[in-house]
Amino acid sequence: MDKRSKIYVAGHRGLVGSALRRKLESKGYANFIFRTHRELDLTNQQAVNEFFEQERPEYVFLAAAKVGGILANSTYPAIFIYENLMIEANIIHASYKYGIKKLLFLGSSCIYPKMAPQPLKEEYLLTGPLEETNEAYAVAKIAGIRLCKHYNQQYGTNFISVMPTNLYGPNDNFDLETSHVMPALVRKFHEAKVNNQPEVIVWGTGKPFREFMHVDDMAGACVYLMESFNADDIGEFVNIGVGKDITIGELAELIKEIVGFEGKIKLDTSKPDGTPQKLLDITKLNSLGWKARIALNDGIEQTYDWYQSQIK
Ligand code: GDP
Repeated sequence: MDKRSKIYVAGHRGLVGSALRRKLESKGYANFIFRTHRELDLTNQQAVNEFFEQERPEYVFLAAAKVGGILANSTYPAIFIYENLMIEANIIHASYKYGIKKLLFLGSSCIYPKMAPQPLKEEYLLTGPLEETNEAYAVAKIAGIRLCKHYNQQYGTNFISVMPTNLYGPNDNFDLETSHVMPALVRKFHEAKVNNQPEVIVWGTGKPFREFMHVDDMAGACVYLMESFNADDIGEFVNIGVGKDITIGELAELIKEIVGFEGKIKLDTSKPDGTPQKLLDITKLNSLGWKARIALNDGIEQTYDWYQSQIK
């Protein structure tokens, strides 16, 4: 990629896409193509082909996806599998058809088998059954990895796949029903503090472990990989994580402290825990020369500041 390369960031208004945009702009890239959901329906193959034919991007960051937390995923599995399969198939096929130079596909750490050994190495893909609460999403993301792999194999394309751990940061979804745990807890503790509520409800047992990465770190890793490596250097895909995890109970305590809430934490065990742990093995990423920089504490503080600036 050079600074004048024509870059399409699919999903540029979401958590990941907006971070990619910030990172690319800060590095001096200036020739972007963006389309909002309203302007381009990525599940519509004809519309996607027409867009590629007209715009002819050189590089594609595929950050558009139907995403959601544990409840949304288990309540709307048909929507999650259908929309993600369509988005990936349309963009990946058009990228091949219109001869783009390189594509980066973003998956998720939920692609790994529920009971795989920890930390999760790339080679554990498809070695056992998936976690039920997000199986639909995971199957679609696995299909995306294999689309990239097989297009590279058959057509000689240069499509890279990355599997980020649980991400958080600005432009996340803070809706309490459909969000992931980090934005949900930032919002719950904030609202409990300003409304002087005695307690905050945390779903599940608080025992599952999760690894959290600030989305700016993850965008840094993606741009670094796109600038320096090809699909052949990376293999089927590479994990992107920080290499450390904490329990949901510990996360709740940390957010409580950062927000400054003085009441109690109450567990709602009628809600699902999801997978017990999904810590990524980041040996491959480190060996490619990249390491995360943003400490969890700092990242949560920055996210809380951003959240407060949005609700004013
Ligand atoms: P997951 O990583 O795919 O399981 O997705 P989530 O980020 O939605 O949930 C992670 C863990 O946090 C699960 O064990 C949830 O039960 C737990 N959790 C605790 N409180 C909340 C909450 O308010 N919202 C969400 N989404 N998860 C919560």
